[in-house]
Amino acid sequence: MKFGGTSVGKPHRMKEVAQLISASEEPKIVILSALSGTTNALVEISTLLATNDRKTAQDKINTLEANYQQFVAELLTDESMLSKAKKVLAEHFEFLSIILKISYSEALNKDILAQGELLSTKLFCLYLEEQKIDHRLIPALDFMSLDTQDEPQIGTIKVKLAQILQKNKGIGIFVTQGYITRNAKGEVDNLKRGGSDYSASLIAAAINASVCEIWTDIDGMHNNDPRVVKTTRPIEQLSFEEAAELAYFGAKILHPASIWPAQMYNVPVKLLNTMQPSAKGTLITEEAGSTGVKAVAAKDNITAIKIKSSRMLLAYGFLRKVFEVFEKYRTSIDMITTSEVAVSVTIDSDLYLNEITKELEAFGTVEIDTGQTIISIVGNEITETKEIIFHLFESIKDVPVRMISYGGSRHNISLLIPGSYKLQTLQLLNKGLFGLD
Ligand code: ADP
Ligand code: ASP
Ligand code: MG
Repeated sequence: MKFGGTSVGKPHRMKEVAQLISASEEPKIVILSALSGTTNALVEISTLLATNDRKTAQDKINTLEANYQQFVAELLTDESMLSKAKKVLAEHFEFLSIILKISYSEALNKDILAQGELLSTKLFCLYLEEQKIDHRLIPALDFMSLDTQDEPQIGTIKVKLAQILQKNKGIGIFVTQGYITRNAKGEVDNLKRGGSDYSASLIAAAINASVCEIWTDIDGMHNNDPRVVKTTRPIEQLSFEEAAELAYFGAKILHPASIWPAQMYNVPVKLLNTMQPSAKGTLITEEAGSTGVKAVAAKDNITAIKIKSSRMLLAYGFLRKVFEVFEKYRTSIDMITTSEVAVSVTIDSDLYLNEITKELEAFGTVEIDTGQTIISIVGNEITETKEIIFHLFESIKDVPVRMISYGGSRHNISLLIPGSYKLQTLQLLNKGLFGLD
């Protein structure tokens, strides 16, 4: 059972989580995110440290600490628990203040970002203790690990977790941190923003759980982005493939990589609402349940790169050379289209854009368009359903589509549009594909 930032972000919410996890006797591992807003604050503190603005960083640490003082005062009533909580806060906020005196490094940044999940789990366990709910805190840093490519080592995680569970036989509730892990050097690292979902799926896969429940602030995966479109509705069932496409192409409810571990070990995933626990939510399994379009999602900050070359494009081996440039800079490509004289690709990270552009210029003229958005239409067998294609293009006839990816899988049609058309496109598709205003 994984609970996100909003689900633990207020003392009364954390208390509800305690109720939810103790509602059944089934043994479980509970994975918590940081309290909502904490990781953002830690990112800010770390950025201030990197730019050497230590005074503002200290102010931010003080504000954050004041919020936590308030939080524990509302969470706990027992004096001895409250004093334990104050010790926890002192330990972590002193650590942050000491760090301000050290010069910035990437490893230090990761240490700072880890504080949120360390705090939330420790405070939650104090509440469980106060409520006399039997449990054990198992530090994620004892069993979560990344390899030299920064990929989770699921085999190692499996072995280590099995040992930990074996040692703690008879315990029904284990609590651990989402998001944080050790890297190949043994340092503290993380699974990138929103990574607690990924932790949950990895842990569920590693222990062969009967289910991986992702508890959040909405009643499941919706057919469209509820942050952008007013009328959206939850989807009852998705296949792993459909869910993975939606997560990868921008549905924030799931971390982009969070589906593969569950899929690989065939663990059903449920998306559930902490604020409305009886709502059905979304079930994700091997089965798609039904055919047709299920949802649309949008992924922002996409850069399109077009390489025009009259000389080389038709020659075999050309695409390999192009792809090798992206491989060299560890930049993954999301969409590809080709014509006789040009190939266009999209990337979601501009970290090495200058280097990539320079190397591609050896093959022809290179054109770059930043600020693009990928709109993905996801469902089951959608590329085989004529009406879908018709409704799709009819509903967005005034949107300047820059690229189309069709037929790559039966679950996805992707369009690249200028970012400024995102809102309008999602709204038009809501009406055109789902009949929702
Ligand atoms: P948590 O803190 O629990 O991990 P997140 O904020 O990461 O929660 O994810 C839940 C949010 O994802 C929702 O509040 C919603 O605004 C957003 N979201 C974006 N797209 C979708 C979608 N297609 N369905 C449901 N929620 C979505
Ligand atoms: N706390 C981390 C974040 O805000 C991880 C997560 O919540 O999933 O990104
Ligand atoms: Mg999240």
